[in-house]
Amino acid sequence: MNSAARKENKLSLLHLLNLSEENSEKILGSSILITIEGEYPRLIEFLKVMLEKTFETVHTSPSANIRYDCEIVTSSRYKNNNGTTVYLCADQGNLIVTLEDSKNNLPENLHPFFYFLITCYTGAIVLRALFKEIPISGPAEISFDPKKIVTDQNLLHKTVSVGRSYLAGAGAVGNAFLFALSTFHPQGEIFVTDPDFVSEGNLNRCLYFDDSDINYKKAEVLVKKAQPHFEKLNLVPIPSELAKVENNNGRAWLDKLIVGVDSRRARRNLQGEVPKEVFDASTTGISEIVLHYHKRPLDGACLGCIYVKEKVEEAHEKHIAEALGVSLNDVKQQFVSKDAARLIAEKNNVAINDIIGLPYDTLFKQLCGEGKLMTKENVQVLAPLAFVSALAGAFLALMFIERHSGLGDYNYWRLSPWSNINYRLKQNVPTNPDCEFCNSKTYQKVARNLWPE
Ligand SMILES: [Zn+2]
Repeated sequence: MNSAARKENKLSLLHLLNLSEENSEKILGSSILITIEGEYPRLIEFLKVMLEKTFETVHTSPSANIRYDCEIVTSSRYKNNNGTTVYLCADQGNLIVTLEDSKNNLPENLHPFFYFLITCYTGAIVLRALFKEIPISGPAEISFDPKKIVTDQNLLHKTVSVGRSYLAGAGAVGNAFLFALSTFHPQGEIFVTDPDFVSEGNLNRCLYFDDSDINYKKAEVLVKKAQPHFEKLNLVPIPSELAKVENNNGRAWLDKLIVGVDSRRARRNLQGEVPKEVFDASTTGISEIVLHYHKRPLDGACLGCIYVKEKVEEAHEKHIAEALGVSLNDVKQQFVSKDAARLIAEKNNVAINDIIGLPYDTLFKQLCGEGKLMTKENVQVLAPLAFVSALAGAFLALMFIERHSGLGDYNYWRLSPWSNINYRLKQNVPTNPDCEFCNSKTYQKVARNLWPE
C-alpha cells in the first residue's frame, strides 16, 4: 500500500474511531493470512482485494518467516496459526463470520453476491479480532440469512433490465456498487460521471483502483476496469460533474440517478437536477451506512429531506474557506473554480492547474488533513475503511436490482457494518418540513412538468 493510502486509513482510525497513534499503526501494520481450501475462488479474490485496502500484509498462502496477526479460515482443519482466527462458516442456512471455532463449513459455490457480503463483514470482524477495545458496539459474530436478504432468489441468476441510468460519483461507493452489481446480470446502460482524478489517497477504499491509475480520470478508470465484468450492461464514462452533463436541452433526461457522491451538500445538489428515480447509499463516519430510494410522483422523502442541511456543515465549510483562503461562497460551489484556484495557489504551495475542478473536501484533505487541523466539524471529509463503503455499494446494487424487478419495501434504511442486519430499521420516511426542495413551490412545479404523474 502506498503511504498516502495508509495515511488516509490512519486518519480514519485516529479521528473516526478515536484510536491512539500507536494502536492505529499496529492495526494497519497487521499481517493477515487467508487459508481457504475448497471451491471458493470468488471469496478468496474478494477477501484479498478488500483486506489489502486496509492491512499492510495479506497472504493467501503462508510465508514461513511471518507471524500472522490474524488468520481467516473456512474450517479449523486447515488452520496454520494458533493465534487469532476469524471463521467463515454456516449454520441452519445462515452465513456466519465469527471469532468462535465452528464445525459447519461455509457452503461452496455460493452466489458471489453473498461472498461479497461475507467479505464486507469479515473486514469488521478482523478489526475486532485485532483490537478488542474497538469503540463501536457490536457482536464478535455477524450472521445473515441469504434468503432474507434476497427475497426473490431468481434475481441472482436472471437478466434484469435496468434501462439507462447515471451514476454520480466514481469513488468508494461507486466502485463498490459496480463491483457488487457485476455479481448480478443487469442489462442496459450506465453513464458514470465524476470530474475528479484518481489520487494516491483513494487507493485505500476504491476496489477497482490501483497505483497504475493515479492521475487518470476516476470515471474513465472505473469504466475501463469494471466493463469486462458485465456482459449485457454498457458503461459509459463522463469525466465531469453530473450537473454539467450535456443533456437534451433541459428536457426530462435524468430518469434514473445512482448516488455515490461523498457529501451531504453534493447529494442535495443532485436533487436540484430533478431526477425521476433515485438510488442512493452513503456512509456516516465509519459506523453506519444509509440507503435511500425515491421515485416521482413522490410520496415520501427526497435527497433534500434525508440530507437536510446541518449546522455542522456550515462550520465545516467556513473552516475550509478560511484554511484555503477563499470565500464561503466559493466552497459552497463544491468544486474549485479557476478564480478560486488562483487564490488558493497564492496562499498554499500548489499549482493552479492541478486543483481546478477538484472537490473542496478532497483538496482540503490533501492540504490540511494531516490531523492537526482536523476539527470535530471537519472529520466529515474522512472516508471510512474499505469494507464500510463496500457494504454500502453492495446494498445499493441489491436495491438497484430489486427495484427494477418491482421489489423494495423501504425508502430509508440504516445498517451497521459492525452488527447483524436489522430489518426493523427499514422505514418509509415522510417529507422533511425543512427540505429546501419539497418546500419550494417552484421546484415542485418544475418537477411536475418534467415528470407528469
Ligand atoms: Zn424533500
